[in-house]
Amino acid sequence: MLRIFINYRRQDSEGYAGRLFDHLLHHLEREQVFIDVDDIPAGADFVDALEKAVATCDVLLAVIGPQWATITDESGARRIQQWNDFVRIEIASALRLGKFVVPVLVGRAPMPAPGDLPDDLQALARRNAIALGHHSFARDVEKLVTAIKEAVPANESFKPRPNSETLRQKDEALRAVRAEVINAQASPLYACRMENGYFPVFGEGNADANLMFIGEAPGKNEGRQGRPFIGPSGSVLDDMLAGINLKRADVFVTNLLLDCPPTKREPTPEEIAFYVPFVDRIIDIVQPAVIAPLGRFATSYILKKLGLSEHKGKIGELHGRLIRAAMPYGDIHVVPLYHPAVVLYSASQKELLRKDFDKLKVFV
Ligand code: URA
Repeated sequence: MLRIFINYRRQDSEGYAGRLFDHLLHHLEREQVFIDVDDIPAGADFVDALEKAVATCDVLLAVIGPQWATITDESGARRIQQWNDFVRIEIASALRLGKFVVPVLVGRAPMPAPGDLPDDLQALARRNAIALGHHSFARDVEKLVTAIKEAVPANESFKPRPNSETLRQKDEALRAVRAEVINAQASPLYACRMENGYFPVFGEGNADANLMFIGEAPGKNEGRQGRPFIGPSGSVLDDMLAGINLKRADVFVTNLLLDCPPTKREPTPEEIAFYVPFVDRIIDIVQPAVIAPLGRFATSYILKKLGLSEHKGKIGELHGRLIRAAMPYGDIHVVPLYHPAVVLYSASQKELLRKDFDKLKVFV
């Protein structure tokens, strides 16, 4: 769900911020727009509290009125230059966290010059501003909302929390597919499963998840327990999910192959061809709003399946991109990601994966 944070300076633009809030509610749900950080308890670190509030949003609108940069405190010092200025703390956090930050000019205020801004707000001066005119307010807010929606893709097919009946039906449908995988004697990996006493690794998680991850193939650890991503790659996945406040139970995790190959190697075309009809059925049941294929094999399959072959390219070029696609149940996004195993031994790759995971925040 797209979340917007309105940042404003009381003495400068309280009325404008309130009007903006009201107009935004013509386009968005109440729970998508935040205007004031709730009371910060006595003794709490207010910088921390403000940063946390900003972190939960995707977009920060910095409402700038005529006195935004010049208002002073009792000692005559400009508020914006002070370390404890709430307006400064919120905008600086949003910039640091890579949020979509839009300066919103009201009361014919000009855009502040870089020289008027402290170091941590310099990037604000480079953001394209939108002015809200007194007579064109409604139209201007509409333009602002359109710009936000283009830049920060909210997902139309994003599902609300499922009710228990939906979950029950989906769990049951998944169980039926799982039973077919268990009995799939024609699978090129069936003999290996039997010889080693492995279980099929069907996938697990929220049967109505908005976010589905598709890995490559289960390894021995996974085969022994019949659960996806439980080895070292699984720890990376858990770590990345925790970074965006998600747990395994919030998402659905599966693989391109639903059985463990005999050795650590790339999946063969024959294996992929055998398992993808099952994977397709899992997708059709869960109906995720976002599919995040992990690594080149899953990415290549999903892009081909969704008729997105024009996005051909190496995972090094595709990772972290938000690609729109149409499914019979609605529009979705595909967000290719590096495979967690690739980042196991590289701190810089891990950082890249973390940044790509941050892009998933707009969907959760
Ligand atoms: N574990 C899985 O389940 N899938 C992978 O792709 C790798 C590890």
